[in-house]
Amino acid sequence: MAVFVQERKSKIWHWRRDCSSYPQTADIALITPQHPATGSLCDECRKKDEVEKRNNKRAEV
Ligand SMILES: [Zn+2]
Repeated sequence: MAVFVQERKSKIWHWRRDCSSYPQTADIALITPQHPATGSLCDECRKKDEVEKRNNKRAEV
């Protein structure tokens, strides 16, 4: 289960620790286990999710 963290400066939500922009602990403003209703989602986290989903599908077939 992903945990969403919002970076203090950018206000962007990240949820993948392998994201190159994932904030340092000191730079995290908010943490929530739920999909955030406001704010921008990180493009890199989203792309990594898509790649992972694609790989999982391939593995199931
Ligand atoms: Zn990210």
